[in-house]
Amino acid sequence: MGESHERILQNFLELLWWPHTEGEIDMPGTQLKVIYDEAYLIDYPTASCETPERVAAIMHVLKKHYPVITPRPASEDDILLVHTQHILREVKREPDVFQAAIVAAGGAIMAAELACRGEPTFAAVRPPGHHASPGSHWGFCFFNNVAIAIEKLMQTGKISQALVLDIDLHFGDGTDNFFLDSRGVVVANIQDNSRERFLEKVDFALASHEYDIIAVSAGFDRHVQDWGGTLTTEDYFSIGRRVRNQAATRCDGKYFAVLEGGYNTGVLGENALALCRGMDPEAK
Ligand SMILES: [Zn+2]
Repeated sequence: MGESHERILQNFLELLWWPHTEGEIDMPGTQLKVIYDEAYLIDYPTASCETPERVAAIMHVLKKHYPVITPRPASEDDILLVHTQHILREVKREPDVFQAAIVAAGGAIMAAELACRGEPTFAAVRPPGHHASPGSHWGFCFFNNVAIAIEKLMQTGKISQALVLDIDLHFGDGTDNFFLDSRGVVVANIQDNSRERFLEKVDFALASHEYDIIAVSAGFDRHVQDWGGTLTTEDYFSIGRRVRNQAATRCDGKYFAVLEGGYNTGVLGENALALCRGMDPEAK
């Protein structure tokens, strides 16, 4: 998978000492920002492909280009906006998983709240969330980060309608299940093995609905050098640009993205950078 083990370890160690902004957001402006926390590197036991090195590889690239901000953990009340008490209790029984998962949900919440202020962000979170349903979870997911973030905006009256654009290789069943009966939230799970048709479906989803905000469930596992073998790195730029342009005309520039899947650490950083460049309001 491209990068040597040594290089990945080096990326990982760099992230452990590298300083970044704590707590309150104090970087106004419209440049894209990245949300990240060391909790995403917690090495809890999970499938061998869903490793801390994924986020380390992404941050190794993104920290050179964008300001990075640290989120607060989500509260238990935030988690309960989407999930049952049973799921909350179950995840809490594994303290390492729980710590990473509440900070991942908190990262998505911060991304959504910044987006509402017209400040787009990419949240480089781990664990991912789109396979987490209200009462069950699978596929390396525990809490549904994007669903929690959007539901919190809905419940606090900051938005009344939203579009979730899921570009991961896998169908985001958790997000779909949660918003199935929602009158305000459309979940567009883009699925196609042809890159032309995939991009057409992205365009169609962005053009066919009314929304106050766009949330991108950003999985990179459909890349040509990942499991899906469909999209190029430039396609992630193109998707980010389409989101940015549609948001500018349709929802006052309110949009954000949250990491889901993507397993080839040799290309994840460049793919995340391509999406961020596409989304960046200041980039040409
Ligand atoms: Zn996936």
